[in-house]
Amino acid sequence: MVSFALHGIGVSGGIAIGRAQLVSHATLEVAHYALTQQQVPAEIERFGAAVAEVRQELEGLHGSMTSGDAPGEFSAFLDVHSMILNDPTLSETPKRIIAEQRCNAEWALTVQMGVLVDQFEQIDDPYLRERKADVVQVGERVLKRLMGRPGVLPAPGAEEQTILVAHDLSPADVIQFKHHHFGGFLTDLGGITSHTAIVARSLNVPAVVATHNARQLIRDGEMLIVDGGSHVVIVNPDRAVLAEYRLRQNELELARQKLKRLRSKPAETIDGIRVGLHANIELPEDIEQALANGAEGIGLFRSEFLFLDRDGLPSEDEQFEAFRKVAQGMQGKPVTIRTFDLGADKQREGLAGLTRVAPNPALGLRAVRFCLAEPRLFLTQLRAILRASHYGNVRILIPMLASVSEIDQTLVLIARAKESLREQGEPFNPEIVVGGMIEIPAAVLAMGAFLKRLDFLSIGTNDLIQYTLAVDRADETVSHLYDPLHPAVIKLIAMAIAGANKAHVPIAVCGEMAGELQLTRLLLGIGLREYSMHPSHLLRVKQRVLQSDVAAGMAVIERIRRADDPAKLVALLDRLNA
Ligand code: PEP
Ligand code: MG
Repeated sequence: MVSFALHGIGVSGGIAIGRAQLVSHATLEVAHYALTQQQVPAEIERFGAAVAEVRQELEGLHGSMTSGDAPGEFSAFLDVHSMILNDPTLSETPKRIIAEQRCNAEWALTVQMGVLVDQFEQIDDPYLRERKADVVQVGERVLKRLMGRPGVLPAPGAEEQTILVAHDLSPADVIQFKHHHFGGFLTDLGGITSHTAIVARSLNVPAVVATHNARQLIRDGEMLIVDGGSHVVIVNPDRAVLAEYRLRQNELELARQKLKRLRSKPAETIDGIRVGLHANIELPEDIEQALANGAEGIGLFRSEFLFLDRDGLPSEDEQFEAFRKVAQGMQGKPVTIRTFDLGADKQREGLAGLTRVAPNPALGLRAVRFCLAEPRLFLTQLRAILRASHYGNVRILIPMLASVSEIDQTLVLIARAKESLREQGEPFNPEIVVGGMIEIPAAVLAMGAFLKRLDFLSIGTNDLIQYTLAVDRADETVSHLYDPLHPAVIKLIAMAIAGANKAHVPIAVCGEMAGELQLTRLLLGIGLREYSMHPSHLLRVKQRVLQSDVAAGMAVIERIRRADDPAKLVALLDRLNA
């Protein structure tokens, strides 16, 4: 077997070693879990039973056709479906897959459907090629039966050896992985701060995106090493390489365990500056990880992720329950709920009518713009957040603000939501604080008006970089231009922090830059006192804060602030971090 390496962008550190599992969008809809050897026979039986039920169903339909006046093509069509079902490639091969891969029946069937569809696509004859749709329809009938009678529970931990290899994944696809346990994953496409990458990070498994052609080069079952920290994937490593990586994997784990000791230590620099370290979350269950890593609050709850993987819009009560869970779970610590940031790379099929396909989605009806265009939806969310504010220290955060009018309109809607709750006698915190995200250069350049109207600010560096440099954060073809250390980006961040500090308005950074160790001291030096990041970065950043002396670095910071030459800026940063 040929051994080779693929380079991409590591979006989540650590090392994963396991077998490749190629996936497509279709297969992501289906649960995937591993079985123990003892569970395999029952699973094969479950598959057989589902096939038998569909066979009966088709026969029943056929019977009702012949007696009635249905068109002849219809019964011919049912014959084709029965033939497909009875073909061993559909009714038997999945059983072999269940046994060989020790996976659940739904997954085995979906994998086999993928193989069959690929085969049909290669056929020259257009009529036969079209039969692909019939195969999918029959397969889906069986799938429906299987899903209606769930099988055994996944064997805990048994999936750790699987590494997913996909061409591309949407944030909604990735969020589904939260319920599975994969060792790691890689994709052909994706940028470092794309929302796909951000959710990937929250899965806490090593991941590399933008590998360009991994999906083509890697075969199912091949051995892979995913080294997220070094942005590399090694396919079919030899024994020496494998042994080396296992050693490194152990070392990383030991270092992680050691960091745990810092969990309840306050984040304070050598010269006595206290820093707040908060967590970014996507789902209520993420607070467990946030607390385990010593988060002092939730600095960013990306509320839209709650609903990305399902149909339809969430009701007020559903949202309220999710927010209340977080508010109560954080036991009085601040919980910053960002209102829906839908649009751009977070499109939802179920919302297609609402998030219109725009010619330039990142500049279109996204985030607060979308919410203001759909005031009913916005009001529902605001009411849900306000109701949750009765149960903890909840704060509202508005994404992607560019203009004062957006703040004013939002504040009017918040007042209206409060009024309606008051009328209904629903309890909420009338003093709830409202903050805005600084993600667009215009917001920094005209920040005075923001400071007057908002209680706190949070810099979303992921978008601030995208909108300052005109580089789509999700497009890997321009990812080399996506540069957090661009002097313009550093100047804008420094300006925002200085402006807010001067006005005594609390300001945080909640973009990915907050979790970058290389930038901890720089941000401290330019006056940042609150960071919000993925929970897995919290303890490393705390360690860096504990080892920093802000006063001692000020001379270098001043030079970084003024630097226009990128190379010089990087050299100065190295000096700061030495
Ligand atoms: C950001 O833009 O930096 C941010 C924190 O928000 P998101 O990544 O969800 O756009
Ligand atoms: Mg953003």
